[in-house]
Amino acid sequence: MIHPVYTISTIADILNAKPVLRINEPVITKLVIDSRIVIDPEESLFFALQAKRDGHTYLADAYLNGIRNFVISDPSYAALFSDANFLIVTDVLAALQILAGYRRRQHDLKVLAITGSNGKTIVKEWLYQLLAADFNIIRSPKSFNSQIGVPLSVWQIEPEHTMGIFEAGISKNGEMDSLAAVIKPEIGILTNIGEAHAEGFSSHKEKLTEKLKLFKDAELLIYSPDYTEGFSINDLPGKLKFSWSQKQKADLQILFIEPIDGRNYIRANFKGQEIECLIPFRDRASVENGIICWATLLALGYTPEEADLRLEKLTLVGMRLELKNGINQCSVIDDSYSADISSLAIALDFLNLQNQHPKKTLILSDLYETGKNDEILYHEIADLLKQKNLNRLIGIGPRISACAEFFEMEASFFESTQSFIADFPSLHFMNETILVKGARRFEFERISKLITQKIHDTVLEIDLNALAGNLQFYKSKLRPEVKIMAMVKAFSYGSGSFEIANLLQYHKVDYLAVAYADEGISLRKAGITMPIMVMSPEPSAFDAIVKHHLEPELYNLEILKSFSLFLNDNEYDYPVHLKIDTGMHRLGFEESDLTDLLTYLNELKKVKVVSVFSHLVGSENELHDDFTKHQIDRFAVITDQIEKGLGYSFIRHISNTSGISRHPNAQLDMVRIGIGLYGFDGALVNNKGLQTVAVLKTTVTQVKQIKPNETIGYSRKGSLPDGGSIATVKIGYADGYNRKFGNGIGQMLIHGKPVPTVGVICMDMCMLDVTGMDVNTGDEVIVFNGTLTIAQLASQIDTIPYEILTNISQRVKRVYFYE
Ligand SMILES: *Cc1c(COP(=O)(O)O)cnc(C)c1O
Repeated sequence: MIHPVYTISTIADILNAKPVLRINEPVITKLVIDSRIVIDPEESLFFALQAKRDGHTYLADAYLNGIRNFVISDPSYAALFSDANFLIVTDVLAALQILAGYRRRQHDLKVLAITGSNGKTIVKEWLYQLLAADFNIIRSPKSFNSQIGVPLSVWQIEPEHTMGIFEAGISKNGEMDSLAAVIKPEIGILTNIGEAHAEGFSSHKEKLTEKLKLFKDAELLIYSPDYTEGFSINDLPGKLKFSWSQKQKADLQILFIEPIDGRNYIRANFKGQEIECLIPFRDRASVENGIICWATLLALGYTPEEADLRLEKLTLVGMRLELKNGINQCSVIDDSYSADISSLAIALDFLNLQNQHPKKTLILSDLYETGKNDEILYHEIADLLKQKNLNRLIGIGPRISACAEFFEMEASFFESTQSFIADFPSLHFMNETILVKGARRFEFERISKLITQKIHDTVLEIDLNALAGNLQFYKSKLRPEVKIMAMVKAFSYGSGSFEIANLLQYHKVDYLAVAYADEGISLRKAGITMPIMVMSPEPSAFDAIVKHHLEPELYNLEILKSFSLFLNDNEYDYPVHLKIDTGMHRLGFEESDLTDLLTYLNELKKVKVVSVFSHLVGSENELHDDFTKHQIDRFAVITDQIEKGLGYSFIRHISNTSGISRHPNAQLDMVRIGIGLYGFDGALVNNKGLQTVAVLKTTVTQVKQIKPNETIGYSRKGSLPDGGSIATVKIGYADGYNRKFGNGIGQMLIHGKPVPTVGVICMDMCMLDVTGMDVNTGDEVIVFNGTLTIAQLASQIDTIPYEILTNISQRVKRVYFYE
């Protein structure tokens, strides 16, 4: 098979770019958009995309990482390095898409494209599971479905592939045409259309019209008329159509769905005959995604019997990397999602974001990467591991073991998962971050079980991508030069410590702030090197503050003096932050303190004022706008006086989360984002634009039948006057589930349905009224998520989201997800 070769000048031709070529004809195999994530620098082409920041500002970083080939739109940057190639184009994103589209057209494979509001990634992964026996499939890694993700996915097509499955997501009008040109699908699959992402569109119809553009040249469209109301069949794209429906006549018309033992049995009409299948999942979304896959198999010509056999074997798609606590002070990243080289690269980047342990270890199985012989594949992996500074490799499987000599780091190899487990005690995992990544047949969940701490049935799941998305949301509201201090006090508002800080450090936030020195010290011990402000620096902690390079907030003369006197004779200009009271009346210097403050600072010169700040008391509320303005004005006057008095300038900051949303004039030099990172902002209607970061889950321990005259729980507070059933769940007030939620005030979700509490909340448990529902021991119970929100919980017991979040006790284990 001929592998196409893309030299830099071929690419210049394809892109119709103006080339500035200084080094000879490198062959490009990798397209890079993030200067931090580089695998094979000599063969990489960096695209300076315009994102929140101008991609050109990352050229130097990319160059330092070894990249010598760049696509840029601002010609002046071509002069930046004398030993690098530049392709100058008018639109860098369009160039990326054109290049991928070109590659797509060089290959003759069956291409399926998936779009919709929900279920795209699951349907893609399941189709891969269902069709991998018959085709050599290339598919989008994870959910690479954006304007950037799609071309990067399509660029991976090799001549050996016989099928491509790509997902496409859009957030506003006008985006789909470019994705259609890149993917050029033969078969289109439309998944569930919900209200998600509706913001970028003026109507449902407009959204659907835009999505359908993906399929405009497709041979076959697989869709449900339930989601295309208002469109006649002739309005829909696709020369041929295959429909499925639970409500109306369709090519695959569902007759009934019946749950059996945690699975769902489905009967349907197909070509005038009744056919059946078993979907091995219980939730509604999985059933629908399963039906879409069923329709696709039938549309592709599989017999109903064959389709049923394959669907029955579908397995759960764990789409996210999970970060958990391990044994012997280890952290474990669990990735059983997919075992190919591009997802390995993503997982290694997440591994590299972890600073909490000195050592980074990978447990990796044989990979079944199509179209590469083992020698090339494992050489490539060895290079990747070296590039990512991996310290230790444990290879499992005959093929990786046969290539042992390629790996230069500490390494050990095992023929099978079994033999690894037999030798486990001799491997001495200790104080390291371990990435576990294996092809499904190696059953690495057995390894994860060995090396992770047991997670109790109540867990707080933290979505790190959502947190990064929220950071981005606020960044986009700031003038580009405004710095960001992220508030990670109180265990990051209950969400975690170094796990959150690692992410914020990676995203180049400028400062972190904690309440107490202890919190700062644990971040330092976990490898966080960025500046950290301590808001309540007690004199007893001065020693530790200095030792760990923490920066105290000084809020009155007394603490300023005691800190200055504490510093060594030869220590000058220690970085500190001054807090000004402009109306909160909690901590801070007042205007009347300024003369003494300045005299003291100028005489001793022990400390250097790096920032001066104040705190808004009512930035979220219009009612307080006059007062907010008054605070901002006073702050300006006071900081001017301080600057004059000191003779040097410093960072000024006053805005918290809602301040950013409602008072753009208060951004000054820096803002302090707290609750917004975690998904709440009192200034936004329903937190619009923010993503849900935290999901609290527990499980049903027991289900009981209750008679009308019986009572439930302590003090006999609960009862079901008509009798019924209750589920006991493993969360109580000691976990942070407030007693005020008792007696029906609070609700949880079981199988998506809200169920009220009954009786009082106990220390470790509480009871829910599940009368009339099919609930069993072990069923998942949602305490809060994106549907039943923390904001709703807060209003039920008359408090604020801050308190709900920070009250979740440390005994509730946190698990971190990263896509
Ligand atoms: C907690 C805190 C913030 C963050 O406030 P949010 O409303 O959570 O954004 C900002 N500044 C100071 C001084 C704080 O204590």
